[in-house]
Amino acid sequence: MALLVQKFGGTSVADPDRMRAVADHVARTLKRGHQVVVVISAMGKETDDLLRLAQEVSSTRPGREMDMLITAGERKATALLCMALHDLGVEAESFTGSQAGFITDSTHMNARIIEVRPDRVRKALDEGKVPVVGGAQGVSIDKNVTFLGRGGSDTTAVALAHALGAEVCELYTDVSGVFTSDPRVVDNARKMDRISFDELLEMTANGCPKPAMRSVEYARTHGVNLHVRSAFTWEPGTLVTKTAASPDGSDDMEQAIISAVVYDLDEAKITIAGVEDRPGIAGRLFRALADRNINVDMIVQNTSEQGHTDISFTVPRSEVERAVETSRALQTELGARAVTYDDHIGRVSVIGAGMKTHPGVAATVFETLAANDINIEMISTSAIRISCVVDEDTVERAVQVLHDAFELDKGPALAD
Ligand code: ASP
Ligand code: MG
Repeated sequence: MALLVQKFGGTSVADPDRMRAVADHVARTLKRGHQVVVVISAMGKETDDLLRLAQEVSSTRPGREMDMLITAGERKATALLCMALHDLGVEAESFTGSQAGFITDSTHMNARIIEVRPDRVRKALDEGKVPVVGGAQGVSIDKNVTFLGRGGSDTTAVALAHALGAEVCELYTDVSGVFTSDPRVVDNARKMDRISFDELLEMTANGCPKPAMRSVEYARTHGVNLHVRSAFTWEPGTLVTKTAASPDGSDDMEQAIISAVVYDLDEAKITIAGVEDRPGIAGRLFRALADRNINVDMIVQNTSEQGHTDISFTVPRSEVERAVETSRALQTELGARAVTYDDHIGRVSVIGAGMKTHPGVAATVFETLAANDINIEMISTSAIRISCVVDEDTVERAVQVLHDAFELDKGPALAD
C-alpha cells in the first residue's frame, strides 16, 4: 500500500463526464489498496475566464481580490469531485489551500509557499477519506487568500507529496507524458519512460510548457518522484527521478547523451552596440534592468576592439519595450553607439545530462544547423544544455533537424 498524490489539470476535469471519469480513477486506485490525496485545478478554461471577467469589470484589479476570485475556480472543482466520489461510495472531503495548511507569502497572483502544515489532510486520510485539495492556493501570514500563479496546482501537488511523504506525485494531464520534443512540431517525437529532474528542469526553463517549472524545482530540491501521465488514456507516462549523475548516486540508470530538443518563441533580443570596455558597464546596465523587474535570460558580450564592445541579451517579449527604454536611457552614460532590438527570434535548446561526459555535442548542433542553412545569432550553454538563438521562421526546422540528428525517435543513445 502506497500513499499517492494525484493531481488533475484543467482539461482532465473540464466537464461533468471528465469529473466522473477522474472520480472513477481515484476509486480504482483505492481498490488496489493505495491511499490517495487529490489536488485539482479549475475546470477547463475557468481560470482564463475569471481573468477575463476581472479585466472586463475593473481596471485596477487589486491583488487581494484577484486571488480571491481566481482561487474560486479550484474551490468549485474540489466540491464537485467530492460529490462524484460520494456517488461511487468513496468518502471524500474538500479542502481549500488554506484549510490544507498552505502558508504563503503575500505576493498576490504569484505567492510563494513558506510552509505546508497538512494536519487536516492527514486526519482525513487517517479516517479513511480521500482529501481533495484546491490547487494553486494558500493563505498568507496576514491571513489573506493567495494564488500561487498560473500552473500553481502542480506546485501544490508536489509540495503536498513532500509534506505527506507520499511515494509519488502523479501529474495527470492531456498528454501522455514528457516527449523528446513538441509532437506538434516533430512528427516522430517520442514519449520518454524516464527523465531526470535536472533535464526536465532545463526543458521547462527553455520552453517546455508542462509541468510548471516551479513544481519541477520543488520536486528536485525535495526529491519528490513525479509521474507525468494522461487522464485520458490512463496509460503509464514519464517518471521523473534522480539519475546516476545525482550527488548521492542513488540511481544507476544509464544516462542518455541527449534527451530532448525544446524551443521558446517568447523572447526578444536587445543589442547595445559599442559600449565602453571598462569595469562597471555591465553592472550598471543589468542593475537598471533588474530594478525594473525585467527578467534577463541569455547575455553575450563580445571581446572588445579599440576599447569598445557589444552586449546582447534576451528578455521575454512582453518586456522588450521596457528593456529597450531602460537601455536607451543609459545609452549616453554607457558610451554606446546604438540600442537595437529584434523580437522575431526563437531559442532552440538541446538538453541531455550525458553531454557532460560526451564531447562533440555542441559541434553536432552547430554543424546540423549550418547544413540546413540556419544562422545562429547567439549561443549559450549550461552543463547539460546547448541553446541557440535563431530567426523565428527557422525555429521549427531547427527543432526537427536536431531531433533527427540525435535520433531521438529511436530511444536514448547512451553515454559511456
Ligand atoms: N488553474 C490555474 C491555472 O490554470 C492553476 C493551475 O491549474 O495550475 O493556471
Ligand atoms: Mg492548469
